[in-house]
Amino acid sequence: MSHKVTLIRGDGTGPELVEATRRVLEGTGVAFEWDVVEAGVDIMKTAGTPLPDNVLASIRKNKVALKGPITTPIGTGFRSVNVALRKELDLYACIRPCKSYIGVRSRYEKIDLVIVRENTEDLYAGVEWPVDSPEAKQIIGMAAGKIREDAAISIKPISRTGTRQIVKAAFEYAIDNERRKVTAVAKANIMKYTDGLFYEVAREVAKEYEGRVEYDEWLVDAMCMQLVQKPENYDILVMENLYGDILSDLCAGLVGGLGVAPGANIGRDTALFEATHGSAPKYKGQNKVNPTALILSGMLMLRYLKEFDAADRLERAVQDVIAEGTHVTYDMKPDRNDPTAVGTSQMADAIIEKLKN
Ligand code: NAD
Repeated sequence: MSHKVTLIRGDGTGPELVEATRRVLEGTGVAFEWDVVEAGVDIMKTAGTPLPDNVLASIRKNKVALKGPITTPIGTGFRSVNVALRKELDLYACIRPCKSYIGVRSRYEKIDLVIVRENTEDLYAGVEWPVDSPEAKQIIGMAAGKIREDAAISIKPISRTGTRQIVKAAFEYAIDNERRKVTAVAKANIMKYTDGLFYEVAREVAKEYEGRVEYDEWLVDAMCMQLVQKPENYDILVMENLYGDILSDLCAGLVGGLGVAPGANIGRDTALFEATHGSAPKYKGQNKVNPTALILSGMLMLRYLKEFDAADRLERAVQDVIAEGTHVTYDMKPDRNDPTAVGTSQMADAIIEKLKN
């Protein structure tokens, strides 16, 4: 059976990364029917918008998308296409595996963590008012002296529904990927109602998986120290939006940075796979940047499509190419000016070659 997938080429270095990833995914032997669509700054010039309607229509139809990075134009009045896609498609779970691969330079080794970040609520919901606004003043008036008169206000909504669906996503990921433990991370000793609710709902969900997946809880500050000192003790970390944003970068740093950090945005019946990094526009068209993060995002897509054998083979092939260290891009060489570094498409070729063995 061939899988119908929307392929968003993106802009900046996006198109060359997407092309490398498409070739590698086809190199696994899995059949795809790609619906190639354009979003980003390049199409904005002709379509008048960086997110034409046909992009959303295609994802809604196919339910699965692979996306190259997209630049957020500054000063044009357009909001981020990346945020718009997550919102429009209600992709409430951001899943970011952080895994050590031999050959990637890092202070740590043998790390295998997964961050599951809530994507729609919390202080990122965009419910905020500027200093001196009537709304801010109204809330200050309700706060019985707890907020200074000259404060701007951001609201932190945490709902039962939002928490239930993100924690369930973490446990379902654990089951599908044979992982052992889910850790809920929050700050419930201080934010008793919002983060308290997060733990309360997380415990309810954990009960449904008792005997199959372990569950524990950490306060976010203590978790940061744990991750720096004993990252090997943790498995899947589930968090609200803000903590998830910060800890995603911390964990990406533990395994060697942006070049190797894949990601998935998952909703009820739709999923969009993309690298954590952006469009790196200064390298556009140079066949220079590292395709690993997007290729590993493709590997996550294969798992989502239940193509587990192909996903395992692809991960091994990527791992072998990185471990050998010859056919890798400049950023994976000990010296960034190493003349033996290969380009984006040559690294993809090396991975495809490994897939044949
Ligand atoms: P960026 O991730 O594009 O680049 C930062 C630096 O990291 C680059 O200059 C480069 O040195 C390095 N880098 C990034 N990806 C790399 C790769 N694959 N291989 C080797 N080196 C790599 O971050 P930025 O410069 O802050 O953002 C550029 C644009 O991308 C912005 O408009 C931003 O809004 C957008 N962005 C998009 C996404 C997305 O599409 N999901 C995510 C983050 C940023």
